[in-house]
Amino acid sequence: MNTSPLSLDTQDTLARFRAEFVIDDPSLIYLDGNSLGRLPHRTRALIQDYVDHRWGQRLIRGWNEGWLELGERIGGKIARLIGAQSDEVVVAESTSTNLFKLATAALKARPGRRKIVTDDLNFPSDLYIFQGIVELLDAGHRLEIVRSPDGIHGPVEGLAAAIDEDTALVSLSHTVFKSAYTYDMAAITQMAHQAGALTLWDLSHAAGAVPVDLNGANADLAVGCSYKYLNGGPGAPAFLYVRRDLQASLRNPISGWYGQASPFDFGLAYQPADGLRRMLTGTPPVLSLAGIEPGVDLLLEAGMDRLRAKSLQQSEYLIMLHEAMLQPLGFRLNSPREAARRGSHISLGHPEGWRINRALIEQMQVLPDFRAPDNIRLGITPLYTTFDEIHQAVQRLRTVVVERLYEQYPAERPAVT
Ligand SMILES: *Cc1c(COP(=O)(O)O)cnc(C)c1O
Repeated sequence: MNTSPLSLDTQDTLARFRAEFVIDDPSLIYLDGNSLGRLPHRTRALIQDYVDHRWGQRLIRGWNEGWLELGERIGGKIARLIGAQSDEVVVAESTSTNLFKLATAALKARPGRRKIVTDDLNFPSDLYIFQGIVELLDAGHRLEIVRSPDGIHGPVEGLAAAIDEDTALVSLSHTVFKSAYTYDMAAITQMAHQAGALTLWDLSHAAGAVPVDLNGANADLAVGCSYKYLNGGPGAPAFLYVRRDLQASLRNPISGWYGQASPFDFGLAYQPADGLRRMLTGTPPVLSLAGIEPGVDLLLEAGMDRLRAKSLQQSEYLIMLHEAMLQPLGFRLNSPREAARRGSHISLGHPEGWRINRALIEQMQVLPDFRAPDNIRLGITPLYTTFDEIHQAVQRLRTVVVERLYEQYPAERPAVT
């Protein structure tokens, strides 16, 4: 088989999807779709139509022309990407806010149990939210953060030891943000259920990147971003999932009118809506919300199985190039080597990672991102990443180190990385 990057691109059955995205500067190698996905052409046209026509001309009538159900309708499409039913997923608020709502509801649903179990690979905002809930409830809850054995792999044995009769909630990132380690969702969920605990999965780095089967794993609760692999746009609202049989028993701690049984009666007492609508709080940002749909449609058209196959092929290709060209220069693979336990980004560690990353951005036309202490994260987004880009990016990484270009950059870091 010919494994030149150009011939791999020629054989790529998903190649046509790249033309669906705005690619203003083809010489820029964008490897940060795991933080902010690219803009689909269809989204640009849709937002334009929303501004000019649906808001500009239809005005308040827009609410009866689709805006009211928009979060549920788009949630129903995201459900198909994550192995859930259409009435189990809704789009609303941010991931952090949804995590607060579902985690608080879960603790209330497990009275007498006091422990939240998570790991130290989880996204810091998730830990901050749990700490805030413990303080707010003031009911003797505590957060147990299980340590990863190596900063790369999830602490599966440590979790097994931590999950016990006192555990109300087990909450983890399905794919973790630094190393891309990906948990066996069904196995961990089963472990939690055996102890009588609920599970809450953060799918932010998994949705649209790896096949997720919430129903197959019998997962209880989940949240996730729309602006990463779903290509929903900066700050676009997040989604939340509650398994159907749990919906009636959970109470939304931010009980706003959007989750009220009959919001347009404007009654004085809160009555939760039936079904998942009770997890809503207030009026959604309609323009941002509407902008999620074309990106989700593109993923559905490509199909998660084909996306995963290309993601794995591109990841293995990148790791092979790393072993041949970067490892000898002091780079380390900071992601799992085993494909089944890896999401769709690759972290490469280097003692000079921060400055190497700056040089890539400033003079090499490569846009990855950096996560402390030493990770250069390379996001693989099969809808628009080419094999040639991966090959070029590795060559440019090599140039930065061999020619010591990174030495031109200071060691301090700005606020946003
Ligand atoms: C990106 C990300 C978030 C972001 O949460 P926001 O509320 O949108 O800021 C949360 N959790 C994980 C695991 C993430 O990767």
